Amino acid sequence: MRVLIVEDERKVARFLERGLKEERFAVDVSHDGEDGLFRALSTPYDVIILDVLLPKKTGFEVIRELRTMRCKTRVLMLTARDSLDDRVQGLDLGADDYLVKPFAFAELLARVRALLRRSEQDDAITLRVVDLVLDLRTRKVTRGGKPIALTAREFGVLAHFMRHPDQVVTRTELAEHVWDEQFDSVSNVIDVTVYHLREKLERGFDRRLIRTVRGAGYELRSRDDETAG
Ligand code: CA
Repeated sequence: MRVLIVEDERKVARFLERGLKEERFAVDVSHDGEDGLFRALSTPYDVIILDVLLPKKTGFEVIRELRTMRCKTRVLMLTARDSLDDRVQGLDLGADDYLVKPFAFAELLARVRALLRRSEQDDAITLRVVDLVLDLRTRKVTRGGKPIALTAREFGVLAHFMRHPDQVVTRTELAEHVWDEQFDSVSNVIDVTVYHLREKLERGFDRRLIRTVRGAGYELRSRDDETAG
């Protein structure tokens, strides 16, 4: 597994590099956004760890250009503050996950491994989250074994949620991935579609699955640690 670290703080970069090498990852390090983007586009990495505040190009610019160039490598962003804006902006631009500095190495490792698992899941035909099963080939969905009939859009939204469990999925992300449209032109339809999807998935079940994250988007919860609402 090959990882690229784009981080200008040398101490942090060295600490991550050493830790990941001990876990048997092949690691490359880049200290600015321009070099990071160049490497990311020229080498097939499994995961990129991308700092937000970087010289030459910010992490946000790097992720935007990567996605514009159709680079699908999983990206974990490192944000300096626990700012919802930063996190949402990163996800909107196409980052797969984020970690707020300072963090423990064990947590970074867990996130990197989760991203690698998700890459494998992308190739899978069946997605599973809690008691939900979605078959990408037959386009059938069941919850607790009970078949659930969905429209094409509802199916697309659910598949996107199931690929990103326990993560805030923004409306912009849904617009681009499910409708293939700019957010402005479909903003009304998104909420209505999610509303119907929730009705179909949650009616008759005690446990709710889709949570609204106010001002940010939605989250499909795989953990039962709090009541979804
Ligand atoms: Ca930095």
